[in-house]
Amino acid sequence: MPNRKINRRKFLKVAAITSAAGLITATGIYKLTEFSSNAKGKIVIIGGGAAGLSMAALLQRWLDEPDITLIDPSDRQYYQPGFTLVASGVYTPDEVWKDQKDCVPSQTKWIKDIVKEVNPVSNQIVTESNGNISYDFLVLTPGLQINWEKTEGITKDTLGLGNAHSIYDFEGAQKTWTAIQEFSKTGGKGIFTDTYTKHKCGGAPKKICLLAEHYTRKQETRDNVTLSYYTAANELYDVPYYTPRLLEIYNERNIPIHLTTRLKGVDTSAKRVYMDHIETIGDEKIITPITEDYEFLHFTPPMSAPDFVKNSGLSWTEGKLADEGWVMIDKETLVHKTYSNIICLGDCAGIPTSKTSAAVRKQVPVAAMNLISLMDGKSPEMKYNGYAACPIITDYGHVLLCEFDYDKNPQPSAPFTMMDMSKEQAAAWHLKVKVLKPLYFNGMLNGYGLS
Ligand SMILES: Cc1cc2nc3c(=O)[nH]c(=O)nc-3n(C[C@H](O)[C@H](O)[C@H](O)COP(=O)(O)OP(=O)(O)OC[C@H]3O[C@@H](n4cnc5c(N)ncnc54)[C@H](O)[C@@H]3O)c2cc1C
Repeated sequence: MPNRKINRRKFLKVAAITSAAGLITATGIYKLTEFSSNAKGKIVIIGGGAAGLSMAALLQRWLDEPDITLIDPSDRQYYQPGFTLVASGVYTPDEVWKDQKDCVPSQTKWIKDIVKEVNPVSNQIVTESNGNISYDFLVLTPGLQINWEKTEGITKDTLGLGNAHSIYDFEGAQKTWTAIQEFSKTGGKGIFTDTYTKHKCGGAPKKICLLAEHYTRKQETRDNVTLSYYTAANELYDVPYYTPRLLEIYNERNIPIHLTTRLKGVDTSAKRVYMDHIETIGDEKIITPITEDYEFLHFTPPMSAPDFVKNSGLSWTEGKLADEGWVMIDKETLVHKTYSNIICLGDCAGIPTSKTSAAVRKQVPVAAMNLISLMDGKSPEMKYNGYAACPIITDYGHVLLCEFDYDKNPQPSAPFTMMDMSKEQAAAWHLKVKVLKPLYFNGMLNGYGLS
């Protein structure tokens, strides 16, 4: 296992840049470093991605005698926000991943396995190859499940066939970049869709559409392509402070937006999409089928909580978050509503905010502190305000940096508080492309830069 202290030194270099950019403050770092606790108990973390690894690192630092086990089958740790930049030729594929063994904190016991079920009554986890594993406290961070099979006519393995692409996959992002370059030469109709379920980074499908548009302008082939964006939602973006400018950008770029339209399937041999336009009048839903031919397609697959979460009685059973089985937790403390020794954060959490690693960055200290309170037999006191950020890349050089809370109020980080963040900014592009990736690998995954 690597020596994490070396990584910490490396991180402090990045911290200097980011605190200059105001993204994290020195106070934030030291406040987190100073805390320690002698709370005891066996902690098991399911899922070692953005949330699971950051939790392991922070708990390891805060607990005097940490007893932490991580279960995750992956060989690689991907910086998923980088997939959009791979798909637009800004990053090379090798820039967005590291070996998982180099990311797991040194004092954390890593079991390389898949969780099949959790029994929250007997505090047992069923794994694929390592039998049952017991816990005193469970950190549930397995991310979300991409349900590729719910789009008829295409699977994860056939991505790229019939020029139908998705950046919600590492290989898919690479194929998208090749296809965008080709599309800008051949021209034709480009169709971009999101999906009807909650999905990782709601801005990602919009970003790749805007980047593809700008790429054709850079190649001086814009007149050869027509682009359309289809959203399943009833508005393009639902954070009022940022929506007007985003709509303006789509209008200026001549990209028509089609609302309340879901992608159902793709005929890759005919290069044709099948969609449903859904209009709700009172209690009645009027569904109008739409068929469109395309030359280039970017689609977003439906997503949900992982099956093992849904089958373990941990999900919401009613309300908007029940349909896809998101975990039933208190939206402020992140503690499970039924089982008080389970805490959940990240993409699988059933809370009304965006599924982004920026949100994870703010959730981790709350979840770690509350878990330690529970281990001490105290009530969880720390509260998460729903902060999430979505850097919507509007072109090669600008980002509309959307930061907001549960109430959709803007929450700009300093020094962006001094700029008009309802508009796209070049400074936010530099943050997105140069700062956030090292902050992820060297800071956040080591338990630093969280606040
Ligand atoms: C194309 C794209 C663009 C994005 N853009 C942005 C952006 O610009 N800004 C931003 O902040 N975020 C962005 N995100 C979202 C961000 O990557 C996620 O929100 C973040 O990774 C969530 O962290 P997580 O720990 O919940 O899940 P993940 O990081 O996905 O980690 C989940 C982990 O759980 C493991 N796991 C899953 N099932 C099991 C099981 N059964 N047993 C054991 N382990 C399991 C997986 O192997 C994985 O390691 C983007 C994502 C994508 C795909």
